[in-house]
Amino acid sequence: MVLRGHAMTAETASEMDGWEVVIGLEVHAELATATKLFSGARNEFGGEPNTNVDPVSLGLPGSLPVLNEKAVELAIRVGLALNCSVQASEFARKNYFYPDMPKDFQISQFDQPINGEGWLELPDGRRIGIERAHLEEDTGKSTHVGGGGRIHEASYSLVDYNRAGVPLIEIVGKPDLRSGEDARAYVSELRSILVAIGASDGKMEEGSMRVDCNVSVRPVGEDELGTRCEVKNINSLRSLGRAVTYESRRQVDLITSGQKVDQQTRHWNEEDGRTHTLRSKEEAFDYRYFPEPDLVPVAPSAEWIDEIRAAMPLLPGERRKRLAGEAGIQPAAAALTVERGLDDLALAAMDLGADPERVLVHVENNLADGQGALTADAFSALVAMETGGVLTATQAKTVLADLVDSGGDPAAVAATHGFEAMDTSELEGLVDGLIAENPDDWEAFVGGDEGERKKKSGFFVGQIMKATRGQADGRVVNEILERLADGV
Ligand code: ADP
Ligand code: MG
Repeated sequence: MVLRGHAMTAETASEMDGWEVVIGLEVHAELATATKLFSGARNEFGGEPNTNVDPVSLGLPGSLPVLNEKAVELAIRVGLALNCSVQASEFARKNYFYPDMPKDFQISQFDQPINGEGWLELPDGRRIGIERAHLEEDTGKSTHVGGGGRIHEASYSLVDYNRAGVPLIEIVGKPDLRSGEDARAYVSELRSILVAIGASDGKMEEGSMRVDCNVSVRPVGEDELGTRCEVKNINSLRSLGRAVTYESRRQVDLITSGQKVDQQTRHWNEEDGRTHTLRSKEEAFDYRYFPEPDLVPVAPSAEWIDEIRAAMPLLPGERRKRLAGEAGIQPAAAALTVERGLDDLALAAMDLGADPERVLVHVENNLADGQGALTADAFSALVAMETGGVLTATQAKTVLADLVDSGGDPAAVAATHGFEAMDTSELEGLVDGLIAENPDDWEAFVGGDEGERKKKSGFFVGQIMKATRGQADGRVVNEILERLADGV
């Protein structure tokens, strides 16, 4: 069969009706240690090729691995953050030949991973199962020169062993995800967790977090899993979504045209937006796994695990829940605040009495670049000035920008801008004058329904703002209007 182009037209989208997409992700994250998993060579991105190497990372004969304790600690942190059982584990040799792996085997964990089953909670509350999260070493990096970077057409290849031996945690998710959107939400949450616990910098663009995406399809209502393909070379959240869309379509097309899906490893090509066959799926026995004879099993003591647990920071999900527990805070606003790293500041300001809604409006609109020199004290004082009618929203925004830039006391900063609260009686005079000039609008305000009233109050407030060059507090003007209307 000739496959049609897989642009998602309305027609092809509807052909997906009746099919369920099933996704399970394998995420590799480089652990943020100073040195490699089994030697003292530096673990650092971006160095001159082959400078962060030593006999162990080059796999020289006679060199022996020594386990990096920090890497084990970070792996345990990952396990705890993902609600895994942290357990006694063992390293194994995974044998395969590739020039970027000088020993011809990778030291990994096989049937005894350091972290067993667990789960990750998506922001919407769904739990995605984790099968395991194990330690292994990274490989070096090949660059194929000429032929557009493809190995088959290259004139020669270069290899850089700086990455060889960098500690990795491989987090194997259960096939619990059901769409590209799900997959993206999972990776995004996982990345936030890894960064929050200091396990990894989570940079997909630098390759320190890499996602292999297993995709299968099955008729809606079917319990058994379909045959999966594993898609590699996904370098961004956007590519992840695109790859799932393309690959699931390809599989549905195969099945509906009477063919079957071969279990394969496929390569995502960012340029043409397709997946291409890389190889037929290898099985565990292809790797001839056996226990690594040069390393003893790793059995973290209960005391050590407890110690690591006690030192764990709050996780993003816990931070969101903490904020969402405050009155009047929407989940989306809580998520944004945590994402921007402003939840501690926001909560502290609220604790000092700042109006939660105003706090979050500032977080969303005026603090996208972080809090800078802004303290919780100054933030809450500023919001108090705003809710007390001393500053208008526009003025508050200006003062806030200064506080972020250079700190200070909001009242003093407001004074330097000449922001002073307008006297209510002065405002009343202005409103009276405006009413006298616009009797029809006033009548419409007084006699109108809710919608009409809103419209007309917008008009009056706008006029007053114009007259006072934004010095007036719109809320106070509204109060005056309401009061005068009630008296009519
Ligand atoms: P292997 O070790 O051979 O790669 P696993 O069974 O450990 O295979 O699964 C690897 C990944 O593939 C896991 O993330 C799992 O969730 C996912 N997976 C397994 N079966 C399917 C399937 N039928 N559809 C989608 N994903 C799957
Ligand atoms: Mg696998």
